[in-house]
Amino acid sequence: MAPEVFRATGTDVNVVILRDGDALTLIDGGYPRDVGAVEDAIRLLGRRPEDVEGMLLTHAHIDHMGAIVAFHERYGTPVFTDPTEIAHLRRDHLEQATGKDFIPMLHKHGVLPWLVRIARAGATKKLALDGALVFPSDGPLDLPGAPAPVATHGHTSGHTAYHLPRSGVIVTGDALVTAHPLSKIAGPQLLPAVFDHGGPDTLAALDRLAELDADILVPGHGPAVSMPIAEAVELARGRARA
Ligand SMILES: [Zn+2]
Repeated sequence: MAPEVFRATGTDVNVVILRDGDALTLIDGGYPRDVGAVEDAIRLLGRRPEDVEGMLLTHAHIDHMGAIVAFHERYGTPVFTDPTEIAHLRRDHLEQATGKDFIPMLHKHGVLPWLVRIARAGATKKLALDGALVFPSDGPLDLPGAPAPVATHGHTSGHTAYHLPRSGVIVTGDALVTAHPLSKIAGPQLLPAVFDHGGPDTLAALDRLAELDADILVPGHGPAVSMPIAEAVELARGRARA
């Protein structure tokens, strides 16, 4: 995506790897059965999963937790996320659409094949992680790639994006995506409403993104897009109104 910034793909979901010398930072971890794909991506970069120094979670939805939970359990790799999201990750509560939420949509084109695909990827697994940590500082973190958390609460109550000021990349998670199997449009957009828990907060989170100095958008779902983030936010707002 940019020097030392890489995107790996799981099942319709992105994982971001930051490299600094021998060490890596992992942002999100795909579905439970995407762990092998994340490990392959790390090996392609000439590194091992044990070389991940820290992991950042945008939000505690199952499609972003796979390698985060697996690596934490296997290697004790520390996980950092927003304080609110720590409880969500522990599954003190769940802010995620479940099977019954999709029943009214089953007649729509593509919904059933997508549900089958994500079930195979482990979407119905019960994952939780105890022991995630709060960000140790404000601003860029002392981790490979120096990612800076950006509170973008809305999609979930503690959703966080990660800004890479050195390379002008913004990792938006699910606060702003560029495609989704259940969306008919391509380009910067909010996720279909069924996935949202924040109501108006989801739109307010876009304000936080728009003020950043970034022109490469790497979303949780869909391809990366090169355009000023403020422009991407405008497009997403327009599409949300439509
Ligand atoms: Zn997602």
